[in-house]
Amino acid sequence: MSRVWNFSAGPAALPEEVLRQAREEMLDWHGVGCSVMEMSHRGKEFTGIIEQAEADLRELMAIPPGYEVLFLQGGATLQFAQVPMNLLAGRSADYIVTGSWSKKAFSEARRVAASPGTVRCAATTEASNFTRLPVADEIRLDPFAAYLHLCTNETIHGVEISAERIADTGVPLVADMSSHILSRPVAVEKFGLIYAGAQKNIGPSGLTLVIVHRDLLGMAPLAIPSVMDYAVMAEHGSLLNTPPTYGIYVAGLVFQWLKRQGGLEGIAAVNAEKGRILYGCIDASAGFYANPVDPDCRSLMNVPFTLADPRLDAGFLAEAKAAGLVSLKGHKSVGGMRASIYNAVSLQGVQVLVDFMNDFAKRNG
Ligand code: PMP
Repeated sequence: MSRVWNFSAGPAALPEEVLRQAREEMLDWHGVGCSVMEMSHRGKEFTGIIEQAEADLRELMAIPPGYEVLFLQGGATLQFAQVPMNLLAGRSADYIVTGSWSKKAFSEARRVAASPGTVRCAATTEASNFTRLPVADEIRLDPFAAYLHLCTNETIHGVEISAERIADTGVPLVADMSSHILSRPVAVEKFGLIYAGAQKNIGPSGLTLVIVHRDLLGMAPLAIPSVMDYAVMAEHGSLLNTPPTYGIYVAGLVFQWLKRQGGLEGIAAVNAEKGRILYGCIDASAGFYANPVDPDCRSLMNVPFTLADPRLDAGFLAEAKAAGLVSLKGHKSVGGMRASIYNAVSLQGVQVLVDFMNDFAKRNG
């Protein structure tokens, strides 16, 4: 069996140890004689699995007691609608647009708001092709907004807002952390609500994680579906209906794997080193490779880059694939390449990529 070096943006690589453990436990989980996929979500075995997953996540992220952890479905895209449906409550909201994903979140909020004008764009860097963050005097905040929405890691444009940069604006902060959650420590208490699709740093697709402060629960109008009401889901411990049980189980295995890596501090150190060597390779290539993002906000998870001569793109991808390095093609909206180097992509994997890139540049430069 040979596994590839997988740089997919998502669904993305999972830790091999986790996959092996899932394989071991596939037919007979802990002697109960069936797979986690085949057991009742209300039985004591699954109750243990979801409770342990939540406890491990709370420990990893140091989630304060005033927050609910919800295991939901519908992807981060449903959160684009579910957030305003729950939190707007007849008020307005501010959106900071720093790339394709926050732009989508903004348009979806306008779609579901009773009046689209109540969803405001507080700043956008689209005119700079989403290669930087807005500076303070470009941001027009409404102090009466119900919330301020950000995407703290733009998966397509490779722009990351580190938690240290986020100042208290006096309104609840809502963050789409889909593509960098669990990659480094984050001060959860700065946020009113954090959401993430699972398929990058958490587990298989089909599971969506929401961490929400209790103060924000119970504001949804009665007319929204109960599975979309955070308060109802919190009241039922995410078990109003059948949750994505297998996804929750694998996420639980990933949380335990992360604890064995030294928690978020441990993984953050590895991620910093991965970013250092990959951006280092791009920046030292004398223009053969380029990353357009302001070095101040370059993502440590998604690294888009172009080749100076796009005629070399197809050859780069074919040779990379032959060397076992896959899913490096950039998103169609930006072109070029993108290496997604989530938690499960090891330092060794990034080193193999960098060696390949240096060799390719030497042969084609
Ligand atoms: N937000 C971000 C930052 C993403 O990267 C993605 C998916 N790549 C989404 C939202 C949409 O997620 P989903 O496909 O789970 O709806």
